[in-house]
Amino acid sequence: MKANCWSYVWGLLCMPADVLLSTLTGECVHDSFSSGGPKVCVVGSGPAGFYTAQHLIRVLPVMVDIYERLPVPFGLVRFGVAPDHPEVKNVINTFTQTAKHSNCSFYGNVNVGKDVSVEELKQAYHAVILSYGAEGNRSMGVPGEDLAGVYSAKDFVGWYNGLPSCQKLSPDLSCETAVILGQGNVAVDVARILLSPIDILKKTDITQPALAALAESQVRRVLIVGRRGPIQVAYVPRPRKRLTELLLKTALEVPDEKEQERRNKASRMWAFRFFRSPVEILTNPDSSRIAGIRLAVNRLEGSGERARAVLTGEVEDVSCGLVISSIGYKSIPIDPSVPFDSRQAIVPNKMGRVQQATGLYCSGWLKTGPTGVIATTMNNSFDTARSLMEDMESGTVDISAAKPGSQSINSLLKKRGVKPVIFSDWEKIDSVETSRGEARGKPREKLLTVEEMLQVAHK
Ligand SMILES: Cc1cc2nc3c(=O)[nH]c(=O)nc-3n(C[C@H](O)[C@H](O)[C@H](O)COP(=O)(O)OP(=O)(O)OC[C@H]3O[C@@H](n4cnc5c(N)ncnc54)[C@H](O)[C@@H]3O)c2cc1C
Repeated sequence: MKANCWSYVWGLLCMPADVLLSTLTGECVHDSFSSGGPKVCVVGSGPAGFYTAQHLIRVLPVMVDIYERLPVPFGLVRFGVAPDHPEVKNVINTFTQTAKHSNCSFYGNVNVGKDVSVEELKQAYHAVILSYGAEGNRSMGVPGEDLAGVYSAKDFVGWYNGLPSCQKLSPDLSCETAVILGQGNVAVDVARILLSPIDILKKTDITQPALAALAESQVRRVLIVGRRGPIQVAYVPRPRKRLTELLLKTALEVPDEKEQERRNKASRMWAFRFFRSPVEILTNPDSSRIAGIRLAVNRLEGSGERARAVLTGEVEDVSCGLVISSIGYKSIPIDPSVPFDSRQAIVPNKMGRVQQATGLYCSGWLKTGPTGVIATTMNNSFDTARSLMEDMESGTVDISAAKPGSQSINSLLKKRGVKPVIFSDWEKIDSVETSRGEARGKPREKLLTVEEMLQVAHK
């Protein structure tokens, strides 16, 4: 057992009473210590992966290996959270502590479902926890959504945040008006990035190509379109109340002369457009690029958060050269052996236990669907860790026999020509990125291709 004394004592302090009792009396969970302790692996190194691992190693002397598809850790904290919200990224410090814990190992550059199957992981570990997030995209299902000039918020965010697969996006920002479909937090992030002064953005970790494109951007007006009204926008409740108060105040208040002058002088503006749904993307006469969007006008049936948008039959055309659809992320299946609910786009589970698959668990957005902030993900990940601990204690998950863990997976990967990136390799990438950033007065300048990341990691 590699757990250091302090973390073991801290783990005991954090334990639910029943697990504590069985741990101290040496029942069940202790049986496995003689065979080197239970071995668990986590798939995905976003908040869900790290918080699940953190809870397990704090409470029990288990060995946790985290497998990540990309050579770099932290999921949407790196590739989703807006660059001008650096304080949100402080969770990386906690994740780093977990990764450096003697009972935890990180293996980046391992694509589960391709480089290694979930079945192989199940053979090698006592339990497998799937925490691979929601990397798919909900489509609008309207004509013209594949045209140049229409992007998903997922790709647009990935582009400015340095996600390797989105670097070829090169969005066309030569138009004056952009329409964002969807009124959640991501839509507001995208609007802010489109309209923020470059002097603010250049001090963030936004990528250099995105910064250059935004510096040349002609976008001056952003409309954030939603199917329903201000009471139904997809914010967490407290900001929604503040937002509603602010909207009412702004709508009802007649601006004084000074304020009106300030508004008249503004070079950029944004607005919410409520009670509208996309019908069709409109093109210019030769169909070479988008010219606007046709929106259906809705009315509400019912009230409060459950109110439904119903079509009125009226439509409205809005001229624009850029459409970004921000109507949600969705999880995708990565391995045919894992049950998947295509309707809800989640792995079907009860408190993180994958249905009809003993020893298989899930946490994070894959478990709940793509809603909630990092704190919500933390709580649902702790719940999954608790479910696993209960199952180890009750014997539902058999931990009596030794399992090979990363030893067997690493030899499989070697045979398949896959070289994992371990956490100290990531630290080399981190150090190159931060020193490149320092030279430009930014917190970091991200490496933008998997090839360059691997080159630095394996130097
Ligand atoms: C644009 C955007 C902005 C956000 N901003 C905020 C914010 O400001 N504040 C806040 O609190 N929350 C924010 N959130 C929400 C927050 O990011 C999520 O709650 C959280 O990241 C979900 O964690 P997760 O681990 O389930 O998924 P993810 O963070 O997506 O992590 C999943 C990980 O799994 C990896 N993976 C995928 N497939 C495989 C595979 N086959 N094999 C191995 N690994 C794989 C991925 O590469 C990724 O690293 C934001 C979300 C988005 C989309």
